[in-house]
Amino acid sequence: MSTALVYAPAHAHTWWNHPENHDRLAKLLPTLERFGVLSALTAVSPIPATVPQLRRVHAASLIERIRGEAQRGGGLLDHGDTYVTPESYELALLAAGGVTAAVDAMLSGQVQNGMALVRPPGHHAEVNRAGGFCLFNNVAVAARHAQDTYGIQRVFIVDFDVHHGNGTQHIFYQDESVLFASLHLYMPNYFYPGIGSLGEIGQGKGNGYTVNVPLPPHVGDVGYGRVLRELIRPKAVDFAPDLILVSAGFDAHWQDPLASAGLSLTGYAGMARELVSLAEDVCDGRILFVLEGGYHQDVLAYGILNVIYALLGRDDLHDPLGPQPTPEQDVTDLLQKLKRRHLPY
Ligand SMILES: [Zn+2]
Repeated sequence: MSTALVYAPAHAHTWWNHPENHDRLAKLLPTLERFGVLSALTAVSPIPATVPQLRRVHAASLIERIRGEAQRGGGLLDHGDTYVTPESYELALLAAGGVTAAVDAMLSGQVQNGMALVRPPGHHAEVNRAGGFCLFNNVAVAARHAQDTYGIQRVFIVDFDVHHGNGTQHIFYQDESVLFASLHLYMPNYFYPGIGSLGEIGQGKGNGYTVNVPLPPHVGDVGYGRVLRELIRPKAVDFAPDLILVSAGFDAHWQDPLASAGLSLTGYAGMARELVSLAEDVCDGRILFVLEGGYHQDVLAYGILNVIYALLGRDDLHDPLGPQPTPEQDVTDLLQKLKRRHLPY
């Protein structure tokens, strides 16, 4: 079995001086090529998502707003954070459709697992609102596609982007068929989007199916590793998903210009290996990593290279940037509280 690679860099979705631009992906393919992994991957072509596919998670008014904004020549949404160019509607459909194409490849048995390198990102997109550089929620669209098209019962979405995945959380907040876990930097009033507290755990039938890990600044390889092994793994094993989707943001690296978390490339590789091994234990290895944020070119290039090593089951690892210079914040107390809430046995 092989590993899928979807590549939809959205060159024409770029705004002057905005950190979420196509240059983010400039070093990815050359790096994969240089280290000899590109030829080991199965290329899966992105196909634009259809409006009915988007409608499973988004209001018609949002889809119409993005389409109309692009048609009128584009502009800024969300107080200037999120932009639309004339091509953005089509490219956002291609990003969401790229992720669903990877799901198709996996669930039809063509590949074992995969990586979707798509833009614009998706995890901040709400049912009826774009935001945080995101237009449509790529991962949420793909999760519903897997359920509706393949009869997949339970999907586990884990989001390690440094920003909380507010859009994904809200879309599945009352749903017991999707377990959502977010590990993020949490500083209300200072750091986007300002939600994702420990007490947000889902609602109604979804009560207990949202896990928020609100981290202080400078938590790094040790803290993230412990959260994955001691909380996320047992919670996911309990849930017994049929498919794992990862909102893979690389802005929790200590060199990212937009945030102040403390992961190294080695720490990121450790998380990727842990999640791939979890997928092998609970759902026959079906795991798809989907690019979200990450604003440092080398972090993205090497971070993604290391994820692909993990997906291919290879032990290689490259970390030319080294560990954070700041001492790491301890997460023992936070983990204790989280375990009491989410693992009551
Ligand atoms: Zn982010």
